Amino acid sequence: AKTAGKRQWRGYHPVLQSGMAERHQLQESLDSSPVETSFLVLYQPIVVLATGEIAGFEALVRWPHSSRGMVLPEQFITLAEESGQIVPLGAWVLGQAAAEAVRWRQRPGPWRPDAQSSAPYVSVNVSPRQFRDDGFLDTVHHTLELSGIEPSSLILELTETVLMRHDDRIRTVMRDLTDLGIRIAIDDFGTGYSSLSYLREFPISVLKIDKSFIDKLGRSPQQYALVEGIAHLADTLGVKVIAEGVENTTQRELLISMGCPLGQGFLFFRPLPSDQAEALILAPDRRLGVR
Ligand code: C2E
Ligand code: MG
Ligand code: MG
Ligand code: MG
Repeated sequence: AKTAGKRQWRGYHPVLQSGMAERHQLQESLDSSPVETSFLVLYQPIVVLATGEIAGFEALVRWPHSSRGMVLPEQFITLAEESGQIVPLGAWVLGQAAAEAVRWRQRPGPWRPDAQSSAPYVSVNVSPRQFRDDGFLDTVHHTLELSGIEPSSLILELTETVLMRHDDRIRTVMRDLTDLGIRIAIDDFGTGYSSLSYLREFPISVLKIDKSFIDKLGRSPQQYALVEGIAHLADTLGVKVIAEGVENTTQRELLISMGCPLGQGFLFFRPLPSDQAEALILAPDRRLGVR
């Protein structure tokens, strides 16, 4: 009777049960993975759409796992958020990315010795829980000191969910960050409860238009008009726009025609290991990979 009952339950919720067991296993494996030695940061170039020059890189975390292969963030960031591990993990990613950006700046390039602003920046994802954590500002200060990164070379990417809260602390933290010279980007713009009023309410420098909008760009006039409208308004407000997930030349050309300056996507580069990112910066023609 016991097995029958169990079987019946499984019959009712097979997906749910295996999903939960899998999730539990992944969580346990994550909990026992020391932050300092278990993860890897890749860097995806962000390019000037018109010229193909590299403007910066987005840091994207990976979890190389002994039995699961390379685990993607979709599979573990939420778990790390729930357990709170995202706080030390995010701090580690930030530290890695900052140190990397300092190495880029030390490379011979058009930005040396004095043209500071043209050195490639690094853009780091910050999850809502990490951003709301009391220690977040201290972590940022610590990272700046330890790495010696120019704050102007650092962008922090937040999602709209963070801004939705009518919370003065969030406003204060954002203000403190921008006072330091760090720029703030809104990631996946258009997927959450988007509001263009964020652009004047918060000190936002960069808007990243979500891939789902870029996907439909060549196929729908409405979609084109929407993205164009966002790009124009952002431009008027002095906010830089980055198109996410640019995969073909049609998208690239449409974006250029509407005045969207920057993009990232598989058309240009996939996320790269740090040595390859560095090699790109060292390449005499940084437009490598752009046709
Ligand atoms: P995101 O911040 O929106 O990052 C962009 C994602 O789109 C990356 O996925 C990137 O590899 C992918 N991508 C870029 N260009 C293309 C393209 O042309 N086509 C397609 N199909 N995909 C493209 P990834 O690395 O798997 O990261 C997924 C998400 O996980 C990120 O989305 C971000 O929300 C989160 N994430 C990644 N690293 C971190 C991190 O260090 N901390 C936190 N809190 N979240 C992170
Ligand atoms: Mg991002
Ligand atoms: Mg994004
Ligand atoms: Mg996205």
